[in-house]
Formats: sequence, structure tokens, C-alpha cells
Amino acid sequence: MKRALITGITGQDGAFLSQLLLDKGYEVFGLTRSENPDLEKLAYLGITERVKVSQCDLLDTVKLGSVIRETKPDEIYNLAGQSSVNHSFTNPEETLRFNTNSVLNLLEAIRTINPTIRYYQASTSEMYGGKTEMPITEYSVIDPSNPYGVSKAAGFFMTKNYRETFGLYAVNGILFNHESHLRAPEYFVRKLIITAIRISKGADEYVHLGQADNKRDFGYSPKFVEAVWLSLQAEKPSDYVVCTGSAVSIQDVTEHVLGRFGVPTDRIRIDERLFRHPNVPVIFGDASRAEKELGWKHDMDFFQVLDVLIDEEIQRYGKKY
Ligand code: NAP
Repeated sequence: MKRALITGITGQDGAFLSQLLLDKGYEVFGLTRSENPDLEKLAYLGITERVKVSQCDLLDTVKLGSVIRETKPDEIYNLAGQSSVNHSFTNPEETLRFNTNSVLNLLEAIRTINPTIRYYQASTSEMYGGKTEMPITEYSVIDPSNPYGVSKAAGFFMTKNYRETFGLYAVNGILFNHESHLRAPEYFVRKLIITAIRISKGADEYVHLGQADNKRDFGYSPKFVEAVWLSLQAEKPSDYVVCTGSAVSIQDVTEHVLGRFGVPTDRIRIDERLFRHPNVPVIFGDASRAEKELGWKHDMDFFQVLDVLIDEEIQRYGKKY
């Protein structure tokens, strides 16, 4: 039986990846920074009892070393990260410190304890900026436009460097936006769905948008974690762009969600305080390498994904709002 260690076990991808690996017969170990972790996402998937969760701050190299020696993983999936662009503008130091040193500590632990462990690093399309030519491929020039992207770029290069210098099986997934009903409620799509439900129930609220014409390549988290797993199963380690390949506008996403609840579009407010500088008007990727080498393809368009998320939200929390 293969053993996998997943960091960021309390996050949406941590939950869906755990479910996938358990279905594939893995023994799954999860790490969280918290002594009293919120395991609600694992509970929602009915797998809390099957994931062996322990507390470990990835900046604590001594504790991290002992966890890796004890759990003896074949594969480590590093999903922990300060993952909010907005938070990174207000907390750049925390974002940079955690998102870079955690990667370095994991790679060093693998190199010194057991260099046969396969390592997955959750990198991001936020490493690319407005000057990058679209679509983004594995060869695109990295040019981040926010502190989160800068921190993830450092983790990306560290992972690549340990692969090329020390021969580790260490790969980056260049993940584009992916959503689910298990995403934290402060992120755009889930927040939009919750707001639409509340307005449909009579709340005197508005949807506040920044640059509504911006287009993004949005996908579905349970589908993305399939690519995450597959990229550690390839014969040779390589970095993979993971995306849908098409971009939808923030305005169209908003109108689709409001339309599902019969909320008129005059509930949309453009708020200049939410404008990003520098702005990246359109971003989308090309997942051809993942399709060719891993056999992975995102086979849902984002409006189908939105309908799944809306149905799950109503079923899970509908009465609460
Ligand atoms: P998520 O739901 O926000 O989960 C992030 C996880 O990292 C949580 O378990 C969180 O633990 C942990 N974490 C956050 N800040 C931390 C810190 N300072 N120290 C230790 N742990 C910390 O994110 P996700 O959507 O599952 O994403 C998984 C990974 O993919 C992240 O690294 C993210 O940056 C990357 N990614 C995500 C997307 C996307 O669209 N979802 C796109 C590209 C890349 P707590 O519960 O304790 O906060």
C-alpha cells in the first residue's frame, strides 16, 4: 500500500485529494498547522476517520523531519500555502516567509531523509502577469504581479532546482483558479453564490466587483486533484500547466449565478477600491502537455461547474443564509 503525506489537509484541495488517494488504496497522512484543526471538509466527504491528521508547522524543521521519518511517505503533496492574493497585499512578509521556507524545508527534508520520496508543489497561474503572452504554457516567462505570485514563483524555482541539482522527483503543478463548494467563503466564486442566496431571501445586499471585464480560466477542484495525483505517477518528473484552456469574464460568472436565483443585475456594483494594480485583463492556459503526457483533461465548462457549486451550496448550507 502506497503512503501519501498531504500538507494543507484542511484546505479544499487537501480534502478532495485525500478522497481520491483513499479511493486508490493509499494510506493518507495529513498535516495541519493548527493544534485544533477544522476538519469540516474531510467530514463533509465522510473521510475524517480515514485520514491520519497530525499537527506540524512546516517552518519547524525538527518536527517536520520527525513526521517524515515516522510516516514514511512514498509521495508528499505540498498543498499548504497562504493562498489568497488579497491577503498577500496586506501581509506580504507572512506570505513570502511561509510560502518559500515551507517549500525549502520539505525539499531539504526529502533530500536528507529519503531522496526517493516524490514531491508535488502546488504552484499557480498567479506567477504570470499582464505582460505574459497567452495562453500560458510550461515555457511562459514568469512575471508575477502580486506578493502571492512572487512567493509561489520562489517555491516553483526551488522545486525545479532540487529536481535539476539533486535529481529529486520534484514537480510543479501550475494550477489555474479552481473552485468547489468546499472553498473558503471569502474567495470570489463562493462568496458570490452565498451573496446571491442571501439577496434571493430578501437581504439588502449587493455584489461588489472590481474589474468585471477581466477574464479568468476557472476550473473544478475535484477534477484538478486528478492532475495533481497523475503528475506524480509519470515516468519522469516534469512541471505541468493544469487549466481548462478557456477564460470566462467575471461579469458573465456573476450574471450566471445571479440568474440562477432570479436576482436582477442591478444588484451588481463596480467598486474601484477592488481594482487590482497592475491589472491582468485576461489569463488562460494551455494544458496540452498534461493532456498528452498524463492523459488529463478538464471536461466541464465553468458554467456547468457553477451549477454544481450552486446545487451543493443549497444542499449543504441553504437554510443557514
Ligand atoms: P486553501 O483551501 O486556501 O487551503 C490552503 C491550506 O494551506 C489550508 O490547509 C491552510 O490551513 C494552509 N495554510 C494557509 N496559510 C498557511 C500558513 N501561513 N501556514 C500554514 N498553513 C497554511 O487552498 P486550496 O484551494 O486548497 O489550494 C491548495 C494549494 O494550491 C495552495 O498552496 C494554493 O496556493 C495553491 N493554488 C490554489 C489555486 C486555487 O484556485 N484554489 C490555484 C493555484 C494554486 P488553515 O486551514 O490552517 O488555514
